Amino acid sequence: MAQSIGFIGLGIMGQPMALNLVKAGYHLTVFNRTRGKAEPLERAGARVARTPAEAAQNADFIVSIVSDSAASEEVISGKDGVLQTIRPGAIVIDSATISPVVSRKLACQTAGRKASFLDAPVTGSKHGAEKGELTFMVGGNRETFESAMPVLEELGKKHIYCGEHGAGLSAKLAQNAIQSTMLEIFCEGFVLAAKSGVRPEVMFEIVQNSMARSTLTDFKAPFIFKGDFTPYFPLKWMHKDVTLAMEAAFSKGVPMPVTAAVKEVYGSARAQGKGDLDYAAVCTFLEELAGVKVRSTEGKKAESGKA
Ligand code: NAP
Repeated sequence: MAQSIGFIGLGIMGQPMALNLVKAGYHLTVFNRTRGKAEPLERAGARVARTPAEAAQNADFIVSIVSDSAASEEVISGKDGVLQTIRPGAIVIDSATISPVVSRKLACQTAGRKASFLDAPVTGSKHGAEKGELTFMVGGNRETFESAMPVLEELGKKHIYCGEHGAGLSAKLAQNAIQSTMLEIFCEGFVLAAKSGVRPEVMFEIVQNSMARSTLTDFKAPFIFKGDFTPYFPLKWMHKDVTLAMEAAFSKGVPMPVTAAVKEVYGSARAQGKGDLDYAAVCTFLEELAGVKVRSTEGKKAESGKA
């Protein structure tokens, strides 16, 4: 008999992940705070719950991917949360990027209900979620990880066991410290080039034929050059993640001077109202400081007017 899954959080990531689980034949009961976002899932055959507790009732697995630590706490251990109804033996897979400290607390509370918990943050963004090609970084008991693999395999192409509770999130925060910095420094370089009269297309050809090339910037550059900042990964969440990385760095006594500066760049862009745009919009913050735009000119001279 097909197993049942309670799925919580139908945002940019959760919506396509949940659809993939329905297509794979699981019985899904979904919850989203804003009910309208559950309609595509309802049309695909999922049941819609009024609370996370209702979504978790009788489920073999509960997958949750909400925005931040406070939201994960609310949907898992809150008044109408998953732990109110979870059945013994069920597995909670929390794929949100949240504080490892909060996640370990949720794992303990889940164990108190004789159920299991995995921190299973992801990378791969909206496209990876749509194609079922996410990379998972998983923390928790290894046997629980193995039991959750049939579900994780429908959602991702790579599943990396990182260690005990919180280890998946610790890895994810390190990965986003790297990724946020790579994109920010790419933008700094392109702003300098544009201000110096080097067209973005020319600069891009140089980067693509150098050791500075990356799959990240191969993907993001065309959007930056078009000025298209439709959110795949909202800037406010990248700011959240570098903030969490710095908290982890403080607690472990690890100096991260570049990440600290990059956190302030994303924080400044967020304070300017760019939080709901894709995190590539960090480029527009740097453009405004320098008074230049990094936009495709296709044969025209580099645009170097006021941003
Ligand atoms: P999103 O589109 O903003 O969706 C956030 C989801 O959280 C929505 O379903 C939202 O409900 C829900 N939510 C927020 N606060 C809540 C609360 N207090 N109670 C219940 N539900 C609440 O974000 P996303 O891009 O899907 O990201 C979700 C998580 O995945 C984040 O932790 C993010 O860092 C991580 N992540 C994202 C990406 C990416 O590329 N987008 C990649 C890797 C990891 P409403 O619809 O009601 O607002």
